[in-house]
Amino acid sequence: MKYQFAAALLLATATTTPHATAQTATPAPVVSAAPAEDWTVKPEWIAAHVRFLAGPELRGRGSATRDEAIAAAYVAARFQGYGLAPAPGADSYLQKVKVIRPRLDGDPALTVDGKAVAGATLLLGGAEKVEGTATLFTGDDAAAMPTGDVILSASAKLSPSAALRAVRGKGTKLLVLRASDQTAKLWDQIGRQPRLTAYLASQPPRDGLSVLILPAEAFDRAAKAAGKPVAMTLPGLVREEVETTNAIGYLPGTDPKAGVILLAAHLDHLGVQPDGTVMHGANDNASGTAAILELAHALSSGKRHRRGILFAAFGAEELGGFGSRAFADAPPVPLTDIVANIAIEMIGAQDPKLPAGTMMMTGYERSTLGPALAERGALVVKDPYPEQNFFERSDNYALARRGVVAHTISGWAVTPTYHSPKDTIDALDIPFMAGAVQSLIGPARWLADSDFRPDWTPGGKPGE
Ligand SMILES: [Zn+2]
Repeated sequence: MKYQFAAALLLATATTTPHATAQTATPAPVVSAAPAEDWTVKPEWIAAHVRFLAGPELRGRGSATRDEAIAAAYVAARFQGYGLAPAPGADSYLQKVKVIRPRLDGDPALTVDGKAVAGATLLLGGAEKVEGTATLFTGDDAAAMPTGDVILSASAKLSPSAALRAVRGKGTKLLVLRASDQTAKLWDQIGRQPRLTAYLASQPPRDGLSVLILPAEAFDRAAKAAGKPVAMTLPGLVREEVETTNAIGYLPGTDPKAGVILLAAHLDHLGVQPDGTVMHGANDNASGTAAILELAHALSSGKRHRRGILFAAFGAEELGGFGSRAFADAPPVPLTDIVANIAIEMIGAQDPKLPAGTMMMTGYERSTLGPALAERGALVVKDPYPEQNFFERSDNYALARRGVVAHTISGWAVTPTYHSPKDTIDALDIPFMAGAVQSLIGPARWLADSDFRPDWTPGGKPGE
């Protein structure tokens, strides 16, 4: 699961966590699982997938790394072993996607009124080149922030995140902050590396906001040039091309007109950190990948279903949802043929706020899918954290924003081990996972054989 929005920059100064909410919850009633049908998900099958995917050999499956590619190859091999075909029109279970990951070698170059200003630190890079006219802001209230293409903010009281939020989306190309304890803290929190947004090679981004920190003395000299031209360039910008990998398998249906179901999970995680720490990502999201594998295992057994079922393990979710976005850009079947997408993310632990044994479905009330699955035994309930906007923070959203009824099922969206090196297999509740996957098999079979086509509820479709 991804951080929300421009992430670390904003998160670094966040004051609330979802756990504050969870701890105040009252115990919920126990919901019984659907009866086991002709298939039993063995906990050791789940554990085996997670042990490999989140094991030391794969070093946290960093987005768009060789470790991620090995994880995808594992998933592809399993898909083949379970009898799935490659996606329609594909000759391989692997979909390779080019991603550009920019980085800055060296410092940004800044000129104010034609004179070079030394000492600037790039916090957020939104464009390789910015030109504009300086507007000085000396207040402490973000609401009073002026508009302008280049804003120089002198306040030591206004938090950098608040300043950033105040100018974002209002035409400002460059925000220059006077160095303070707060900017120093933020710079440390983001790992002393400029934030430069990765993107799909096929979709170069439009220019966005850049943010610089300027030492106090240099800032004060620059501030005297209000109304004068300012220019920033990034001479050390390197656009590194990397590759992410999706693993996709297909179980053909008997009725080509009945549509296709997409079951998906992201297989990447945060990999090896600059300090060498390995982020194993057992829950996020070896657990969801294991669930997709065991759904493929179960649904490929027995008689064929009416609808086709696509199983996808997406790469580079943590970097920006690139695997699922590339899939949605060039889907193996028309998106209008996908009757529903269920993504599975972080089902390795259960939120104490949920009824025992259940999982939450993000955006549950936005469509008729969740209630229909729950009616048939799926242990899914409403997302108790609507304010966290989880619906938009996972791979389902790439499909949902294009109209496909798409949701994410999760056991606990932000566990105590979320995005920490403690997210290991030892922290997972494997029996809960096995029960959770078991509960989805009957409803998935029903959906694959039925005429039911889930729809958005009024106002539920993204963008409406
Ligand atoms: Zn994550």
